[in-house]
Amino acid sequence: MDDLKRAVGEVLLKDLECPVCMQYMVPPIKLCTNGHNICSKCRGTVKRCPTCRAEFSEIRCLALEDIARRVKYPCANRQRGCLELFSIEHINEHHAVCVYVKIKCPLHLFKNCSWNGLKNDLKEHAKAAHAGYFFEVSAFKSPILKDCVAVASCFGELFTYSQQKKDDRYNFAVQLIGTSSEASKYKCEFTLRAPNGVEQIRSTFFVQGYSENFETIFNSRNCLSLDEETINRFVVDGKHNLTVTLSTV
Ligand SMILES: [Zn+2]
Ligand SMILES: [Zn+2]
Ligand SMILES: [Zn+2]
Ligand SMILES: [Zn+2]
Repeated sequence: MDDLKRAVGEVLLKDLECPVCMQYMVPPIKLCTNGHNICSKCRGTVKRCPTCRAEFSEIRCLALEDIARRVKYPCANRQRGCLELFSIEHINEHHAVCVYVKIKCPLHLFKNCSWNGLKNDLKEHAKAAHAGYFFEVSAFKSPILKDCVAVASCFGELFTYSQQKKDDRYNFAVQLIGTSSEASKYKCEFTLRAPNGVEQIRSTFFVQGYSENFETIFNSRNCLSLDEETINRFVVDGKHNLTVTLSTV
């Protein structure tokens, strides 16, 4: 971005700063009867306008809302070194995956792991602490038929493989520890092979962006979902032969 654009952006951002909490306001931005504004969070905690003591109205400041939709916001971890700028739709997504923010180990959902660190350090952690659930290749086998999460490192990125049984259905999904737009550069292929070596189920999906919300992950349709009866045809001694292959689109 050239200097002028950056300077204009910073002036506009200044207008979007909430005078109470100093966070940036996002739509809907409502006014007091004299035309001042504060963010919706602060509006819930103060009764009168902190600038003029007038009452708040339901009138929205459309011009400022329009600016809010067009301006690029700095990452909340700017002070820790993240200098990236994002539009209002993408900033929260970025905050969820910014390498300057601490993340929980994805395996904490199924194993007792309290690791909480920078995304850049997750690979070393998973390698050291979760043997059998960490893969440094783009094709690997699902570790067990029980609910689990595994981490895969390939293409210079980190991916999670999640498996969960819910309401007699087995769900399998791959996510990139990154945004959904970065994730859309990758696809994952699931191949479930029967012990007779003949039958197989093969499906390919786009990789998803990172979330710990399994409702969201498994409802996205970008995951393999099989009923128990189908899975049982492929299971021998409680084991299934499912290969996950990651590749670029
Ligand atoms: Zn505020
Ligand atoms: Zn006011
Ligand atoms: Zn950031
Ligand atoms: Zn861990």
